[in-house]
Amino acid sequence: LSFNDFQISKETLNSIRKMGFKKPTEVQEKTIPLILEGKDIIAQAQTGTGKTAAFGIPIVETVNTKSRKIQALVLVPTRELAIQVTKEIKDIGREKRIFALAVYGGKSIRHQIDFLKKGKDVVIVGTPGRIKDLIERKVLNLNDVKIFVLDEADRMLDMGFIEDIEFIFEQTPPVKQTLLFSATMPKAIMRLAERFLNDDYEIVK
Ligand code: AMP
Repeated sequence: LSFNDFQISKETLNSIRKMGFKKPTEVQEKTIPLILEGKDIIAQAQTGTGKTAAFGIPIVETVNTKSRKIQALVLVPTRELAIQVTKEIKDIGREKRIFALAVYGGKSIRHQIDFLKKGKDVVIVGTPGRIKDLIERKVLNLNDVKIFVLDEADRMLDMGFIEDIEFIFEQTPPVKQTLLFSATMPKAIMRLAERFLNDDYEIVK
């Protein structure tokens, strides 16, 4: 199987090629077609398996650069992951000129607010606490989110982010695509899936 077998644009295929990706990893093979079909999924995937591109490629294919609204939101547990995921999405979206912004705690919020106000970034990647803060300050509006991703969901639950995640989920439109990635699938994660995902969601292991 090659990336050409997926319904993805020439621009994105080019970006992926420039990143040195030759063929999809196992998790990408299993998840990308489902995500491009519009399905909600819960996927069990460890770090290093290519899980970021598994949701990054469909995000880049779904967002519309003609709109300046935020159309994809990715929640991650840590600042390191926020930086890493943002970089990967920027690389995948390079040819389509899709801009992504990382927001996380422990760094000047002023700076992040200035970037948000420029309105260039259609993909936001961030930690739940900082995202909630930005929503409360009315500088982050999620009314146009089409894709909502919970990355390393098990770690976010372990770190006590559940209430922030619920708050953020409530700020997104009821009709959207939700993708949940987790290294482990304990009951708490399955309960989260039942609550957040559309009824016909798929489980990918
Ligand atoms: P992740 O699991 O998302 O942390 O990805 C681990 C590393 O694999 C990252 O450096 C990615 O850029 C890289 N990667 C992701 N997908 C592929 C692929 N299909 N071929 C080669 N490298 C990849």
